[in-house]
Amino acid sequence: MIKDNLQKVQSNIRAACDRSGREYDRVSLIAVSKTKPVSDMMEAYDAGIRDFGENKVQEIVEKYEKMPKDTRFHMIGHLQRNKVRQVIDKVVLIHSVDSYRLAQEISVQAQKRGLVSDILVEVNIAGEESKFGLDREGTIQLVSEISELPNIKIKGLMTVAPYVVDSEQNREIFHKIWELAVDIKDKKLDNVSMDILSMGMTGDYMVAIEEGATYVRVGTGIFGERDYGNG
Ligand SMILES: *Cc1c(COP(=O)(O)O)cnc(C)c1O
Repeated sequence: MIKDNLQKVQSNIRAACDRSGREYDRVSLIAVSKTKPVSDMMEAYDAGIRDFGENKVQEIVEKYEKMPKDTRFHMIGHLQRNKVRQVIDKVVLIHSVDSYRLAQEISVQAQKRGLVSDILVEVNIAGEESKFGLDREGTIQLVSEISELPNIKIKGLMTVAPYVVDSEQNREIFHKIWELAVDIKDKKLDNVSMDILSMGMTGDYMVAIEEGATYVRVGTGIFGERDYGNG
């Protein structure tokens, strides 16, 4: 079933690329495997998926040991500073940086291990009650502050758009994030590239691609509904 779902998602991605004149290989699919067992992840892995998204440090640490070595883990959830050191060498990209203090800790831990951490800054320009992410001005400010930190590279922006029934409702948000990335890129800051836009989930990834997403994070559409086990 996971394999069939994947084929469906991949053909949807292709269709969205065709509609918007974008190249298929410029869009990467992250399979969001939070709460799902390693056996499900292996089904996706066997179908060719290497990028997996998780939102809990403990889950990454556990799954990291069990998955093949070329698995690429993405931290897509809120990251607490005191847990940075547990995941810094296990993830290829931290999508959810929304404060200078978090970036500082990532920089410190990266220096300790002699590596350079790739991060995205989390933006929330929907202007709604969502818990994390910065507005437009806050994002510009934070990117320029973080760009001064050693051992850290800002690769782009990430957003979690509101849950909507009609994905068209999120088109403007995705477009604004794309514009913001262009504006930041124009500043030509050191250590800032803006090549990655991580946006779009099961409900709206096609619209996100049409508006410039380079990473889409799809969970339910691949693995089915999540069971958080609390009724
Ligand atoms: C859970 C999650 C996703 C995947 O959501 P689906 O609707 O299941 O595709 C994507 N991004 C983030 C940040 C998430 O927490």
